Amino acid sequence: MQYPEPIAKLIDSYTKLPGIGSKTATRLAFFTLDMDEKDVESFAKALVSAKKDLHFCSICGNITESDPCVICVDKSRDQSQVIVVEQPKDVMALEKMREYHGLYHVLHGVLSPIEGKGPEDINITGLIKRLQQNDQIKEVILATNATPEGEATATYIARLLKPAGVKVTRLAHGLSVGSDIEYADEMTLFKAIEGRTEL
Ligand SMILES: [Zn+2]
Repeated sequence: MQYPEPIAKLIDSYTKLPGIGSKTATRLAFFTLDMDEKDVESFAKALVSAKKDLHFCSICGNITESDPCVICVDKSRDQSQVIVVEQPKDVMALEKMREYHGLYHVLHGVLSPIEGKGPEDINITGLIKRLQQNDQIKEVILATNATPEGEATATYIARLLKPAGVKVTRLAHGLSVGSDIEYADEMTLFKAIEGRTEL
């Protein structure tokens, strides 16, 4: 027997989420059917709003409701430091630490020859432009993840920025190899920033 079209569509939608196979998707779809109509409506609205009302900041690439984002427009932040991260969720992790008061730059990925991702596929040009247009930036801290791709991306950017005469540093290896910034606890992140080394 085939599922009625609406539930088949719902199962299909859940399958598009990472780590969700058809079994889990089916369970979630039937769970949704049992939910209050109000809760389902606000869930659906939250999905649409997250996509429609959030944009990427034209300066740093972070997700934001307003452009430029609240961090970029906050003049009380240290304008001389920029931390370069892979994803917007890394910004959230570093902000939670409350010890860093500089600016950010979100790459939206890393260099990955296997996935065919080159420099033009991530937000590197935006970073170069920022440095050219803003001589307040004195240090770029590379905080890509401690994965082979993250390291390769950091090395690539460091080489690219060297001629610009800006100080380029890399997070200390308090972060274990292969670990992601977003999962690191606040103390580890703080130590990684404190112990950063110049490239
Ligand atoms: Zn921004």
